[in-house]
Amino acid sequence: MGHSNDLEPSFRSHSPGYWPESVMPHWDDATWQLKNRVSTLAALEERLTLTDEERAGVLLAGNKLAMSITPHFFNLIDAQNPDCPIRRQVIPRIEEGWDAPEEMADPCGEDSHMPVPGLVHRYPDRVLFLVTDRCASYCRYCTRSRVVSGVGDQHLETQWEPAFRYLEQHTEIRDVLLSGGDPLLFSDAKLEKILARLRAIPHLQFLRIGSRIPIFLPQRITPELCTMLQKYHPLFISIHTNHPRELTLEVKQGLERLANAGIPLGNQSVILKGVNDSVEVQKALVHKLLMCRVRPYYLYQCDMIRGSSHLRTPVSRGVEIIDGLRGHTTGYAIPQFVIDGPGGGGKIPLNPNYIVHRDPDKTVLRNYEGEIFEYPEPSPIPASELLRLRDQATSSCGAH
Ligand code: SF4
Repeated sequence: MGHSNDLEPSFRSHSPGYWPESVMPHWDDATWQLKNRVSTLAALEERLTLTDEERAGVLLAGNKLAMSITPHFFNLIDAQNPDCPIRRQVIPRIEEGWDAPEEMADPCGEDSHMPVPGLVHRYPDRVLFLVTDRCASYCRYCTRSRVVSGVGDQHLETQWEPAFRYLEQHTEIRDVLLSGGDPLLFSDAKLEKILARLRAIPHLQFLRIGSRIPIFLPQRITPELCTMLQKYHPLFISIHTNHPRELTLEVKQGLERLANAGIPLGNQSVILKGVNDSVEVQKALVHKLLMCRVRPYYLYQCDMIRGSSHLRTPVSRGVEIIDGLRGHTTGYAIPQFVIDGPGGGGKIPLNPNYIVHRDPDKTVLRNYEGEIFEYPEPSPIPASELLRLRDQATSSCGAH
């Protein structure tokens, strides 16, 4: 399967791809997609010739983070290219078995900020509510791989009742982000129970859902789901897309259904080596996102999760990417590059340096083309000028 047009702003379906034409009547059924996920070495090798590094990676992955890939997402893999940006995201590689000295099981320090199991309260006015440990497919660099997929040594304990009680008691919380795992994996009824319960708490002004389902399983974004979600506004959804190839025709249609339900959509990307660590790929991605009515929101430096060194890039790469976007494309297309402060520091924004010099009188700046501009500080109005203007005002008043 060729993917030569990755950087073109076009949207196409890749079905049935690696599957026979006979499955097409089931293709749009999310349950069928989930049942037919590729999650064993045998199922993988039925469709792809693996590299030695991938084969070893799959054998080692079983007790760290499960492998699971929906047929929809699997079809984006280029069988001819062992360095395909899609396979690097979802097919384990041998390098995952090595933990670099700086890597951690919980790089964002979530476990130490949990007043109730599953509820991360790091910033005063908002919380992260981890409602499930399951996803439609598993990203090899998942920052929550210590609990996600259920095969690691740690398990996610979510106790909804204590979490709801904590939210009721803490009136300073105004914003709840549902995440996991992937909350959109729940049935409409189960998800609605959570949303309705949260909406019954008067001080919760704003709800958010973090989900990669629109990308891994666009079939789940049904009109019924959208009708249910729109009862709980203001509700925002953050999706997670890394490469322009992920924005297929089905994904675009699913995102349009969410946008038509009045849900503002943002995208979170992680910079990954060999996937999207160039200005060219990022620019194609952000342009396609805008066409899908999604605002690029965050561009993350990959967290120092165990076994991720082969996917992580130097911090300077993210700054270069923003430098290559700012001024060169629509402002709405430019995400904020951030590093999640290791151990629980929260998101720290990083930007290219546009300030060449600063003193009490002026700031010297460079623009996106490298030209230099001087912006003087505001001049104080001289007292004599104020007097003169006052006199002028008085005399024009007398003239009337
Ligand atoms: S979808 Fe999100 S939570 Fe699930 S594996 Fe990927 S990064 Fe982790």
